Amino acid sequence: MSALPLRLQRLTASLNALEVDAMLVTDEINVRYLSAFTGDSSSLVVTPKETTILSDGRYTAQISEQCSGIGTRIRTSNQLLRDLTSEVLGGCGVKRVGIDADNMTLAEFQFLEKGCEGIEFVPTRGVVEKLRVIKDEVEITATRRAVEIAERVFTELCPTFTAEHTEVAVAHEIEHRMRLLGAEGCSFAPIVAAGPGGALPHYQPRNVAFANHKSLLIDWGAKFEGYASDLTRTLHQQDVGDSFKRAYEGVLEAQLAAIELIRPGMQVRDIDAAARAALDRHGILDAFSHGLGHGTGLQIHELPRMSPISEEILASGMIITVEPGVYYDGDFGIRIEDDVLVTDSGHEVLSTLPKGLDDCRFIL
Ligand code: ZN
Ligand code: ZN
Repeated sequence: MSALPLRLQRLTASLNALEVDAMLVTDEINVRYLSAFTGDSSSLVVTPKETTILSDGRYTAQISEQCSGIGTRIRTSNQLLRDLTSEVLGGCGVKRVGIDADNMTLAEFQFLEKGCEGIEFVPTRGVVEKLRVIKDEVEITATRRAVEIAERVFTELCPTFTAEHTEVAVAHEIEHRMRLLGAEGCSFAPIVAAGPGGALPHYQPRNVAFANHKSLLIDWGAKFEGYASDLTRTLHQQDVGDSFKRAYEGVLEAQLAAIELIRPGMQVRDIDAAARAALDRHGILDAFSHGLGHGTGLQIHELPRMSPISEEILASGMIITVEPGVYYDGDFGIRIEDDVLVTDSGHEVLSTLPKGLDDCRFIL
């Protein structure tokens, strides 16, 4: 069976446990995951018997091209999506309908309750997101390509750096090259941070030239057929100080120690703990201010969340980032991030860019 019917099957198999007859899927990304539709302002009604996409006239052609095997209902121009939703649900003969509580406003919920007599709406949380945690072959293939494109851009771009290059220019160039290589674009706005900029984990590139800065942190990713890659490398000039070099070795050791443990059945928090223990051995744990990583997929940040308080357990088919970092205000930041697929027998690091201290020199 191809990927989409299987995804729908996994969703309908969960309806019993939720004690609902149908699911109303309103989140754009979840709609895409289940139907392949890439537009917006549309939702899905999923029952064990059939799936229907509810949309508007702008998308009629796109739906017939992208969504095979599911029903289509297009609202008329004097109808709102919520009116069509009531009509479709009323026609399905369902009594209890699951809705995504994280993705519906109170006003929409009240309207549905009022407009659908005889139907009870049951708030649920993260039902489709939990299915999305385990990637199928189509998703893994797209992610591999997203990683390849991001790596190629980086490899081609680094030798072109000059002292006059600015963070903004490099961020722009990354996006430009991603698209030329077939990506939909960046999976998030690239972080290009020279020197002290790197100390801010979510820094925004500025018109700052590389000249006079000894380190350069780049966090970037491509989006290919909807799927994100997310990588970070921290480069340095030959004469960077010893404190940078020592911290770099600590971050690298933490990342490798965490990756080493990745396999099905592992507690996510134990992976996080291994990275923290390595940072602690190097005396730099205090400078690590965020979680170890996150799942990637149709969104840049997906489940599982890799943190000390995570309750999640790794399973084959998850794709996660491992990205320890240390940040020294006004001085520099170091982060090393790779994308890792959890396999049946362990893991596969999808990204291949070298990351040893000597591999990450940049010359202006
Ligand atoms: Zn990143
Ligand atoms: Zn990340």
